[in-house]
Amino acid sequence: MTENTKKYEFKAEVKKLLDILVHSLYTSREIFLRELISNASDALDKLRFESNRGVEMSDKDLPLEIRIEFDDKKKMLTIADTGIGMTRDEVIANIGTIAKSGTEEFVRLLGETKADPANMIGKFGVGFYSVFMVAKEVIVKTKSFRNDEKAVEWKSDGLGEYEIIELDEKLPRGTKIEVYLKDDASEIAEKWRLESIIKKHSNFISHPIFLAKDKINTVSAIWREPKSSVKKEQYEEFYKFLSYDSDAPMDVIHKAVDAPIQFNVLLFIPKKSNDMFWHDRENYGLDLYVRRVLIQHKNKELLPEYLSFVKGVVDSEDLPLNISRETLQENIVFTKIASSVSSTLFSYLSDKAKNDSAGYNEFWKEHGKIFKLGYGDYSNHDKFMELIRFNSSECKDKEELISLADYTSRMKEGQKEIYFITGANRDALRLDPHMEIFRNKGLEVLFLTDPVDEFVVQSLHKYKEFDFKSAEAVDSKKLSEMKNIEEKKSDLDDLNKDDEKHFFSLLSKMKSILSERVEDVVKSTRLVDSASCVVSKDEGLSASMQKILRMTNKEMGQSKKIFEVNPDHKLVRNLIKVFKKDPNDDFILTVTEQLFESALLQEGSLDDPHTLIQRLNKSLEQSSDWYVEVKKIS
Ligand code: ADP
Repeated sequence: MTENTKKYEFKAEVKKLLDILVHSLYTSREIFLRELISNASDALDKLRFESNRGVEMSDKDLPLEIRIEFDDKKKMLTIADTGIGMTRDEVIANIGTIAKSGTEEFVRLLGETKADPANMIGKFGVGFYSVFMVAKEVIVKTKSFRNDEKAVEWKSDGLGEYEIIELDEKLPRGTKIEVYLKDDASEIAEKWRLESIIKKHSNFISHPIFLAKDKINTVSAIWREPKSSVKKEQYEEFYKFLSYDSDAPMDVIHKAVDAPIQFNVLLFIPKKSNDMFWHDRENYGLDLYVRRVLIQHKNKELLPEYLSFVKGVVDSEDLPLNISRETLQENIVFTKIASSVSSTLFSYLSDKAKNDSAGYNEFWKEHGKIFKLGYGDYSNHDKFMELIRFNSSECKDKEELISLADYTSRMKEGQKEIYFITGANRDALRLDPHMEIFRNKGLEVLFLTDPVDEFVVQSLHKYKEFDFKSAEAVDSKKLSEMKNIEEKKSDLDDLNKDDEKHFFSLLSKMKSILSERVEDVVKSTRLVDSASCVVSKDEGLSASMQKILRMTNKEMGQSKKIFEVNPDHKLVRNLIKVFKKDPNDDFILTVTEQLFESALLQEGSLDDPHTLIQRLNKSLEQSSDWYVEVKKIS
């Protein structure tokens, strides 16, 4: 160790990451090369960018390229670029720490899943460290493009510490990485092997890559070529390069836009939604080129967040090469391109929905969860309305999807609203007592099973002239006026005048039992098979919406519900009999409490089920006594 050598410890999260990478035997270790080449390419892009801005730099005439050398005797290889390089402080900041949010979560996932890290590493962008999957020692020699900076050497075995030495010797601008291979990875230091890895993973890098003397990659901007001359395989290969996906894309959208602004766009919709998204929300965007020169990787302003599952490239004729990333958003040409990219996607999806509805449903199942968050984007509002999908009471199974146009095309005569109901899943919703009147009237109800769905319909407000209306808050009197599809009469006779009077007195009794907990207790006109249910006041929020709001705002109390009782239900009829005999019979209290809490439980707003279960078990015990008695079992 010389005087100007300093030892440092890796930051804790880097140590954990390295520990996993060093000690696991991954089959996809070769991707370390993709990561180092991609870093080299970024460094070259950054340099070109500085150069376009006219910044002073060292070795001004060095060509922008990546050179890979290998030594099969020494079992090592080097990856060198003539890019931006790093100063001593930059080395410490860039390799030694990970300054990304969500790193801990990522490292935990990587450790837990035992899955192949090839895709995860690339997507999360901790690429440099992947070299320790194959290396027992790594030496980085780097010289910043700034004239007066000294060259530095960084050295580590990946086990916890690294060393930094300031070099006195003069190095050319850029970064050279020496990789000393582990014994079990030594076969990588061979020409055919390296060549095939580069071709497989780095073919579309936009700077020349030399292996020994030969240029390996075919630098071509396929998005600039006419659509007819690009083969399906080329699109696929480019998509895989861009996305680190191992699958082919679901859709390819390639377009040359001429007016009002000239640009080329090549977009891909992945086959599978990226489930890393929520851990890694920063990792999206389109690559922005100006006349084939990469200006920015993963630009986020080109796409709204709800389209973030789309990958691709935009290449403009009309932006200046030296445009800074900070001023992009204020550039009118750029904002026009961005809105044109969105409308290109919307047109594509609209066509797909029209001409290939099975394909569109696939798309919705994979990406709908994110796409539907576009409900707030008014610039594409009308198209968006036609593109959202729901399952409904008329669908034959939980897979079927309908559009709002499908819904309105089969609305019943006199129907003025689009009905929806929220709940955990289709099976639960089908059993929901609120559905009974809709079934009876043959009215279709949208099943909203994703918590965000209700926000979506509440914010969209209406489709054409039809308001969205929660089935729990619908005015059942208005619905009762509509014709039943089949006259489903209850087996019971109509209540006589006298019993009807007692029924209403029973309701008052129930109201006094439930007192503060309900807004009112009323005769139901919506129920057929159930004895009772709770409903919201007109315009009230549905139960699930209230639950979401209560989770985010603890202050918000439960709004009072109306308790509806069905006079044509056997249980209620018996209750009337009991009531007639003794209005203060405890049985009335027990049944009222039980029905009310069951109704709350069913809509998901019962806070504590313990008393309900106790009461239920007690009634079961009693009915077992009666059962034994009636059946004469002893
Ligand atoms: P990412 O590339 O996603 O930022 P890495 O762990 O691969 O993550 O690299 C960390 C950082 O180290 C890079 O952001 C860059 O600033 C720096 N770096 C890596 N390789 C080079 C290189 N060849 N030239 C200049 N800087 C580099």
